[in-house]
Amino acid sequence: MAQTSEIQEIRQAVRQLCAKYPEDYWLGLDRRGGYPTDFVQELTTSGFLTVLIPEEYGGAGLGVVEACAVMEEVCRSGAHAGACHAQMYVMGSVLRHGNAEQKKAYLPKIAAGELRLQSFGVTEPTTGTDTTSLKTTATRDGDYYRVNGQKVWISRIEHSDLMVLLARTSPKDQVTKKTDGLSAFIVDVRAAQGNGLEIRPIESMINHHSCELFFDDCLIPAGNLLGEEGKGFRVILDGMNAERILIAAECVGDGRYFIDKASTYACERTVFDRPIGQNQGIQFPIARCYAEVEAASLMVDKAARMFDAGEACGAEANMAKMLASEASWHAGDVCMQTHGGFAFAKEYHIERKFRETRLYQIAPISTNLILSYIGEHVLKMPRSF
Ligand SMILES: Cc1cc2nc3c(=O)[nH]c(=O)nc-3n(C[C@H](O)[C@H](O)[C@H](O)COP(=O)(O)OP(=O)(O)OC[C@H]3O[C@@H](n4cnc5c(N)ncnc54)[C@H](O)[C@@H]3O)c2cc1C
Repeated sequence: MAQTSEIQEIRQAVRQLCAKYPEDYWLGLDRRGGYPTDFVQELTTSGFLTVLIPEEYGGAGLGVVEACAVMEEVCRSGAHAGACHAQMYVMGSVLRHGNAEQKKAYLPKIAAGELRLQSFGVTEPTTGTDTTSLKTTATRDGDYYRVNGQKVWISRIEHSDLMVLLARTSPKDQVTKKTDGLSAFIVDVRAAQGNGLEIRPIESMINHHSCELFFDDCLIPAGNLLGEEGKGFRVILDGMNAERILIAAECVGDGRYFIDKASTYACERTVFDRPIGQNQGIQFPIARCYAEVEAASLMVDKAARMFDAGEACGAEANMAKMLASEASWHAGDVCMQTHGGFAFAKEYHIERKFRETRLYQIAPISTNLILSYIGEHVLKMPRSF
């Protein structure tokens, strides 16, 4: 793991890179539903988006602690990290479960920015959070798997060359454990689109490039199976802790962004001949949010360190995501309140970040499901569903 001073250097360098993409850049993209191709490319070629890729494949070979520093700074700058964060954690599935051939074929190109692995397809319209009930099937047919079904909310697929897809290879009623019988695949999106894969963008509250996917006899080469057939749930699950920790770091970045904005404005804005921040009704909520974000940041750091040490960190990753997403949401709300009517003006950027940070109490896993995890797995209470 990098020393504290090295992490500070990473933070500083990411800040400098992000300064080239000011808030107006992100507002412009938000207005037209555009994708930050140049930002993502620069974040990749400068080595920040690929920090988790081992050096032998052309990455920096660093850990989640360093990756968190990158994502936090991206969000703190006013950017929307949702445009690119998945590459960090989806890559982990290929790294941990891919065979030697797959790793050689994909990882160096991802590290070099020649291949984009920005997309993962798990959620389905009729089963939602109940992942093991998903209905998309992949049936072996000679050298291929034939995929049929539907996915929803699959983000960034239009800006990705590859997607990791989860589908059922054995019916749920024919496996002993409901998590068995699911398999993960690396899908070459360019080859599949128009050949059994239809992609339809979803108009949504934030500029997240999410789509519906329709698979109709889409053929995926058998060599693209990721890990063992029937054990794909584990492939996806392994990436989930990293995903939760990284998204929690983004929320800490969002929270700090809101607190910076709110405290600055509270000092500058004068009403009734005094800065509004002199009123405890404005000052205390900002101070409370600061405390919440700082506490969440400690949990993110704990989870990231455990992840990097190879320790079981399901509870910590979940708690980090829950605490950080709530802290950033509270900070966003207080920032809105502090800015009064101006919070609604797009040129202040707060309403955009407010919309963006709201997502993280729902995706990639909703707060209720985290509470249920803690209740059942940490506190040993009965399973609630
Ligand atoms: C912008 C966006 C981007 C996304 N990107 C991706 C992506 O790239 N890839 C991907 O695979 N998915 C993606 N998702 C999907 C996301 O992971 C799901 O929306 C999320 O997991 C919740 O699933 P759902 O929407 O089906 O909610 P549901 O499962 O229908 O749940 C609805 C509500 O009910 C609650 N609930 C459900 N069951 C229980 C229970 N047993 N006890 C208590 N409460 C319960 C949930 O907590 C939630 O609040 C994205 C979603 C959004 C909105």
